[in-house]
Amino acid sequence: MLNPVTDTDGAPFWEYAAQGELRVQACADCGEPRFPPRPCCPHCQSFASEWRLTGGHGRIWSYVVPHPPLLPDYAEQAPYNVVVVELEDAPRIRLVGNLVRHAGDPLNSLDPERIRIGARVHAVFPDGGLPQWVLS
Ligand code: ZN
Repeated sequence: MLNPVTDTDGAPFWEYAAQGELRVQACADCGEPRFPPRPCCPHCQSFASEWRLTGGHGRIWSYVVPHPPLLPDYAEQAPYNVVVVELEDAPRIRLVGNLVRHAGDPLNSLDPERIRIGARVHAVFPDGGLPQWVLS
C-alpha cells in the first residue's frame, strides 16, 4: 500500500483522516471548498482557509480497472479499481481512491462487475490511515 506523501498544504487532510474524519479545505472568506489543498482560494483569492468536516458520503463519478503491465506491487493485485468519488456535501470536490468490500480489505477485494457510475459510497478509515471507499 502506498502511504501519503504530505506537504504543508495537504498535511491537515491526512491528520484528520488519521482521526477518521474526511475534511476538505474551504475558503474562510467565501466558503467555497477546494481540492487539492492549496494556499489561495481560486474563487476570491483569499488566503484564509478552514478544514470543513464532510459526511463522508458520495457517488462514484468515474472509475478505472487497471490491468498489467503495471508496477510489480500493483500487478499482483490487478485487476483492482481506482474510483473518483464526488462528495455529497461538496459536489465539485472529487477524490480519488479505491473501492473495497470492507475497511482495510485489499485493493482487489471487490468484483469490478459490481462498480457502477453513480453508486452511493462512503469513506472508511482502516487503521487510521489512507481513506478507502465502500458501497453504501
Ligand atoms: Zn474564497
